[in-house]
Amino acid sequence: MSAEEVWAKCLEIIQRTVGTNIAPVRTFLGAAQPVSLRGDVLTLRVPSQFFYEYIEEHFSALIVKTLRRLLGTKARLEYQVMTAAEAAPMKLPSQELPPAIVFPGLRSSQPFPSNLNPKYDFKNFIEGDSNRLARSAGISVAQRPGQTAFNPLFIYGEVGQGKTHLAHAIGNYARSLHPEKVILYLTAENFTQEYVDSVRNKKFSEFLQKVQALDLLIVDDIQFLMGRESTQDMFFHVFNQLHQSGKQLVITADSPPQELRGLEERITSRFSWGLAAPILPPDYETRLAILRYKLRQEGVEIPEEILRYIAENVRSHVRDLEGVVIQLLAETSIRRKELSLELTQQIVSRFKPLRTRAVTVEQIVRTVADYFKIHPEELRGKSRKKNVAYARHVATYLARKYTHHALKAVGEHFGGRDHSTILHSCQWVQETLPINRDLAQHVQDLERLLFRNP
Ligand code: ADP
Ligand code: MG
Repeated sequence: MSAEEVWAKCLEIIQRTVGTNIAPVRTFLGAAQPVSLRGDVLTLRVPSQFFYEYIEEHFSALIVKTLRRLLGTKARLEYQVMTAAEAAPMKLPSQELPPAIVFPGLRSSQPFPSNLNPKYDFKNFIEGDSNRLARSAGISVAQRPGQTAFNPLFIYGEVGQGKTHLAHAIGNYARSLHPEKVILYLTAENFTQEYVDSVRNKKFSEFLQKVQALDLLIVDDIQFLMGRESTQDMFFHVFNQLHQSGKQLVITADSPPQELRGLEERITSRFSWGLAAPILPPDYETRLAILRYKLRQEGVEIPEEILRYIAENVRSHVRDLEGVVIQLLAETSIRRKELSLELTQQIVSRFKPLRTRAVTVEQIVRTVADYFKIHPEELRGKSRKKNVAYARHVATYLARKYTHHALKAVGEHFGGRDHSTILHSCQWVQETLPINRDLAQHVQDLERLLFRNP
């Protein structure tokens, strides 16, 4: 058998095994090329380190199992990671964006404002492992709207990680490449407003006409449709209509599709049809790169030692990195304080409460369940077993402390418990922590597990 034949067989078996959750398979394994089969070693070429890690983590067990079935028990998988230059097609061609000003009288195919903010583009969106997949999928989608496997492109991440920036960048880039296409950026709030207004003013058919004209619809922060049933209904129809006619959808949210509580299942399940790509908290190198970029934009230079201190200590949000830079500039230029490590430390400490927030309820549930050796479903379920109830208290406490979800939303992650139950759990942990060493140890261990350095 040739490398291609073996790989095709692997893909077939993997696709059968993973069933409906096909998007990541298409994205990640689709990007891998079988380059050689020597003896019982299959070598795959992958576009970047990130692809290598993702495949290794999620699919290697399955691939190796399949290889062993085909080639014998000694079969192995090896990888070849492409260099950045080799992976060039993933890169953005250096294309100037068209001016954002629309000249009066100039005919444009855009019958209404796109709402795109020209400030956000790909050039000032710094690439890193934490956003690589979302960014490169975004570029593909802008290049060929509606014609890639990434439809919808669903981008998720905690607040302040760059979802809105990326959403606008996709729209702006698409517009520069395809001036004839009709593009609309809306937040979920805007979408609701437009829909409600159209109903109130009996201009509903205009609303539908507007939707029909679109080639690319970007809806930011879709979680805000939570609990708005008729708007969700409308969104469902809009989604279907666009998707069926091969138009591109880009959606952003604060959590992955399967965790979007308060949105109808028929909607969230559609979000997994294309690609759901995370934007994770930036790693150290990315934080450093973003800082350097922002400082260059401001035209200031900062000693390396201070830069590294900030990158090392402000870990969660890109927005916080910006915040530190702005405050540092303010303190030194307006208040004329001396730029020193000490001043930096003071400023960084103001951002402390936000530092470790970039974790999802889902991660907390998994980590806590794992730590106490119980099943995540048990943690979410109704069990009153003492050890399960204890673990649940700890998990809800951590969820409240480290995510921005309200009590009610946390409750929804724990089998629909009401907010007073969640509040009670959190209070119990808070009050017991200072007087119970075991509990303190458990919480400390879990915090370390959740926020340990990558
Ligand atoms: P979100 O929508 O996820 O809450 P935003 O898109 O508003 O986050 O990003 C917050 C700020 O951080 C913005 O000013 C944005 O330009 C900046 N930012 C986020 N990610 C990056 C990045 N990779 N490179 C440069 N700036 C970024
Ligand atoms: Mg946003």
